[in-house]
Order: sequence, then C-alpha cells, then structure tokens
Amino acid sequence: MIEIKHLNKTFHLKTGDVAAVKDVSLTIQDGEIYGVIGYSGAGKSTLVRCINLLEIPDSGELSVNDSGAISIDNQRLTVRAPGASAGKPMGEKQLSQLRRGIGMIFQHFNLLDRSTVFENIAYPLRYCGMSRQQIRDRVYELLELVDLTDKVDVYPSQLSGGQKQRVAIARALANHPKVLLSDEATSALDPDATEAILNLLKDLNRKLGLTIVLITHEMAVIKSICHKVAVMEDGAVVEEGNVYDIFANPRQRITRKFVNSASPLAKVDRLIAKDSPLVRTGDGEKLIRMTFGKDCVGESVISAVSRKFNVNLNIVLANVEVLQGNPLGGMIAIISGADADVERALGYLAENHVIAEVIDRAAVH
Ligand code: ADP
Repeated sequence: MIEIKHLNKTFHLKTGDVAAVKDVSLTIQDGEIYGVIGYSGAGKSTLVRCINLLEIPDSGELSVNDSGAISIDNQRLTVRAPGASAGKPMGEKQLSQLRRGIGMIFQHFNLLDRSTVFENIAYPLRYCGMSRQQIRDRVYELLELVDLTDKVDVYPSQLSGGQKQRVAIARALANHPKVLLSDEATSALDPDATEAILNLLKDLNRKLGLTIVLITHEMAVIKSICHKVAVMEDGAVVEEGNVYDIFANPRQRITRKFVNSASPLAKVDRLIAKDSPLVRTGDGEKLIRMTFGKDCVGESVISAVSRKFNVNLNIVLANVEVLQGNPLGGMIAIISGADADVERALGYLAENHVIAEVIDRAAVH
C-alpha cells in the first residue's frame, strides 16, 4: 500500500516560489492501477517523484510497501519501523531499499543509446550480487514478459517507440518491484503502440499483482486501464475516486473538461461552435445532455419520458460503453414541449438516475 498524507513540495526559484504539490493525501491499495491526471504543470510528476523520494518533499508523511511510516519535516526524513514507537533518521540503505521496491518508466524511455536491449535491462541487476548466468536468465525472463525476446541484441535506435517502452518496462521490473510509477509513458507513442503498452501494463498488473501509479494528461488512458483516479490542478488533488464514478458524475469543472475530452458526446461543443442546425433550438426547445449511470436502463427511461410528459426527444448524439464492467452512456438531445412538461420530464429523469442538464451554450467557446 502507498499512503501519502499532507505532502507538500515547493520549489524556490529566483523568480519566486512554485508550490508544486500542496497538501496532497492519497491512499493507493496493493494491486491497484491508480491514475493521476492533470494539465501540464499541475504537479503530477513532482508528486510521483516524491513517492520514490527522487524528489524530497518539504513536509508530510509517506509509507510505501513495508517502508514503515516516513515523516518529512523540512526535508528531513524520519522513519518509524512497523511496531516501533519512535522514528529514526532515514539512512541511505533504507532509501535505496525503498527505491528498489519501486520501478519507474518515462515518456522518453531514458534508455542507454549505446547499449543493447540486453545491456539496458541487465543494468539495474549489475550490483545486486547476481552471477552472470543469473543475470542472463533474469533478462530473458523479462524479455519474455514484455514479448521482445527477438530484439535482445539490437540497439534502442533500431526499435520503434513502443518497443523502446517495452525495454524500459522490462528494466524497471528487473528487481521485482511491487510498484511501478509511469510518468506519461504513452504520451510519445502513436495510438496503436499506446494501446499495446496499456494492455501490457494491464497484463503485468494482473499477472504480477503490480501496483501501478500512472500519470497522464489523457482521460482516454485513465479510462482504458485505471481503477481509481485523482485529478490534480495547481498542485492540489481536487477530485478523487473510482474511475466509473468520476466518469459518471464528475464534480469539478476541470474533471468535467477531462471527462468530456474522452467522450464522443463532446462533439456537441463543436456543433454548437459551428452553429450547426443539428443543435439549434427554437421556442420551447432545450438542448440537453443526459448521462446514464449503472442504476438505470437508458432506453426505457427515454421512451417513458416521451409518453408520460408529452415531450419530444430528438436525439442528436448517443454513446453507450462499458467501463469497469458497467455500462456508462450518454445522449445529447433536443427536448421540446410546454415549459412545465419539460421541467417535469427533467425531474423524472433525475429520479431515474439519469443526470440531465441543459447545455449552457454561452460556456462553449
Ligand atoms: P506536471 O507533471 O503536472 O506537468 P510538474 O510536477 O512537472 O507538473 O511541475 C509542477 C510545477 O513545479 C511546475 O510549475 C514546474 O515548473 C515546477 N517544477 C517542477 N520541477 C521543478 C524543479 N526541479 N525546479 C523548479 N521547478 C520545478
């Protein structure tokens, strides 16, 4: 388990202070794929680098796997072993033990260009007291895990982006870490390679029980593999929860923006901006967005609304998909009828677990 409590990190620059991480508290369970999403500069990288203490926080508490509780006060690290009553200053040995339990992969792979795939993966095994044969066996085991056995002797420049990231993943897993930190690992890849790498991460999570903390600026990545997600803005976590719940009911403005970015229904914004006749409304008409949650059967609610309240629903866009095994869908429609009937229809939708909101055209740029 990873527990982060009230973590803070400020960079002091000549131009002023930058509070990169502000009072962040998170709990990540073993075996979870936990996403952290935010725009560039939100503090994601800094937060994740605080987990392996590559970046020393200013203050807060941290515990990773069986590290014991690490308290940080003014960048001084004190560790209290499980069961101990008092903490002691954290030594180099404990620090490297903590780091060994955490692998990390990056957007630009960080491979050694002048070394072969074999040498890149063997690198972290060199000073672990393993024999040459043991290293060789482990490298081949890792190559099989990432499905790259045939590239053992080639150099990174001879590999595609996706293959390079596979090498980086193999290297990150060399010492059997329980946690993998992924810093925008698919951001430099094309869509096919992105999908393949995400599938590989999903497989590794299942096969090895690997906990993955993944940072990204793309909601599609979160949707594709994460169990939970935290949304960061300006150094703080502004919303956090189960991926399904966040997609079904985003509360913060920034979260809505991210959710929209991964939704086919977001096309409506472009239609509005272009003043498309599809979304133009006349008297007694409202353009609405409906989101169906786990507890509702969309189609029957829609037909019931038309029948019961004498309103018409003209569907503009519709999309239903399965997220974490549950259907999640939405629809953009123009609802028309007498004002009172439309109001009652919207109330009925809410009672039946359909989040229905009138689209604010003025908010669409
Ligand atoms: P993200 O990963 O969400 O893009 P970062 O954690 O990289 O965000 O950055 C958060 C803020 O901290 C930014 O304003 C960035 O410029 C600043 N920052 C990050 N690392 C450093 C550093 N080593 N020195 C100074 N400022 C930094």
